[in-house]
Amino acid sequence: MVDVNVDFMLKQNQLKEVWFELTKKMFKNFLYYEVLDLVLKASEEKDIKKYKKLNKFIKSQARLLIDKKYTISKIAKEYNIKIKGDKMVCPFHDDKDPSLSFDDSKNVFNCFGCHAKGDIIEFKRRLIESGVKKRS
Ligand SMILES: [Zn+2]
Repeated sequence: MVDVNVDFMLKQNQLKEVWFELTKKMFKNFLYYEVLDLVLKASEEKDIKKYKKLNKFIKSQARLLIDKKYTISKIAKEYNIKIKGDKMVCPFHDDKDPSLSFDDSKNVFNCFGCHAKGDIIEFKRRLIESGVKKRS
């Protein structure tokens, strides 16, 4: 279990450095989606959830790093999801014509069929949750 109290004793700037170093190491040793999974799992931990501010900070930092390297369409391609212009076939409902619109510059999506919407982290989380298979 992570000892969050230690982190809390650090000043905000020190915390930023610690997180930056940690993330750099993680991105070197893990694939981005494993890091993303780690962040998501960590944010579900009871002990970390107590510290909402820290949780929010970690998520925003992870988001910055993810946005630099990945887009929603890039993830969609990994899952073999059909893309047509700025729309794709929605993987979250039984979709025939592409009805999920996305914006890679903002990394957000919105489905007009099933009303699924959110950012790139939500997109990935939903893919994992609904058990969509990755391209092999
Ligand atoms: Zn949908």
